Amino acid sequence: MKRLSVLGSTGSIGVNTLGVAEQFKDRFQIVGLGAGANVDLLTKQIVQFRPRIVSVLTADLADQLRKQMTDPPEIYHGIEGLIRVATIEDADVVVSALVGAVGMIPTLSAVKAGKDIALANKESLVMAGKIIMEEARRQGIQILPIDSEHSAIFQSMVGHQKRDVRRIILTASGGPFLNVPQERLQTVTLQEALKHPRWEMGKKITIDSATLMNKGLEIIEAHWLFDMPVEKIDVHIHPQSIIHSMVEYVDGSIVAQMGLVDMRMPIAYALTYPDRVHLGLPPLDLFRIGELTFYPPDRKRFPALDLAIQAITLGETMPAVLNGANEMAVYAYLEGNLRFTQIPEVVKAVMEKHRIGVAQTIEDILRADQWAREKAKEILRKLAS
Ligand code: MG
Repeated sequence: MKRLSVLGSTGSIGVNTLGVAEQFKDRFQIVGLGAGANVDLLTKQIVQFRPRIVSVLTADLADQLRKQMTDPPEIYHGIEGLIRVATIEDADVVVSALVGAVGMIPTLSAVKAGKDIALANKESLVMAGKIIMEEARRQGIQILPIDSEHSAIFQSMVGHQKRDVRRIILTASGGPFLNVPQERLQTVTLQEALKHPRWEMGKKITIDSATLMNKGLEIIEAHWLFDMPVEKIDVHIHPQSIIHSMVEYVDGSIVAQMGLVDMRMPIAYALTYPDRVHLGLPPLDLFRIGELTFYPPDRKRFPALDLAIQAITLGETMPAVLNGANEMAVYAYLEGNLRFTQIPEVVKAVMEKHRIGVAQTIEDILRADQWAREKAKEILRKLAS
């Protein structure tokens, strides 16, 4: 029996994770749940899975939850609460599925507590990849990717030697604006941006997919997870999203992982590795799909990709700045305060103003993140006036 603590239990990955846990009750027990403000869904999850510890966003929500439950678990709140859920003694694996920078400290805390990690929160590696991977090595724990591309890369590397890898090829659906010309991009609506052609996901990552920033963040994530130089990580647009990513070896072979567009697959693999389980999904019908196509990404229309590459190439505090600025710009866009094409412009402007500092400690990174958010706010205010 594997005991799981799930950070971000009411989000898209969290809900799918609990679905897998429910499907394989004989394998998994839920001991901790960390959520935000969706107390209604969390309440249902508590009743269904009986975790020992849960956490919500605020003290008020924690009170509300205590009052409405007859037999409540231990209830905490805020970042402290998430850290408790991440470090709970009886958890074997922590599923890190919070959205954004808020996931970094709880994820690092779980690593420090010696937990294996099933990782969906890519921002924690984008911001603090070096620190988290070093700590993971020190603790001798495993970080297994849930992100579908990274799961595919991981699966394509099992049984191979890292020194034989020539390059990693990350695939990208291209998002809703794959074929939208530059002039039209200026005026795309939020509704259009939120309509991802392949994946059903939360709002933040859906916008990141539309700008291709998500792929940029995934390059950084792959760099840390697989200890690969950025020059050896390529992006191919693959609109069918059937090949979830590939690894090319020195002999010219390319190993790819294919599958349906369903997050339960990479989630289950991360939780049961090296086993594979009967998920009961329909088979992948390659006859119906017919053809798989590939295109180079349009770096002009989607500058976020190169901003991410630039950030990780410069290194130190810059990736945290990229991430912080991007989060601010995406939330401003979601609130209707920014045009779609201004998202990467804000990120770029913040990066240009940043004086890179060393990112040796988590405090260095938090400071850079904070600085980036303040700077982004300043730029957003100017754009609004
Ligand atoms: Mg992904």
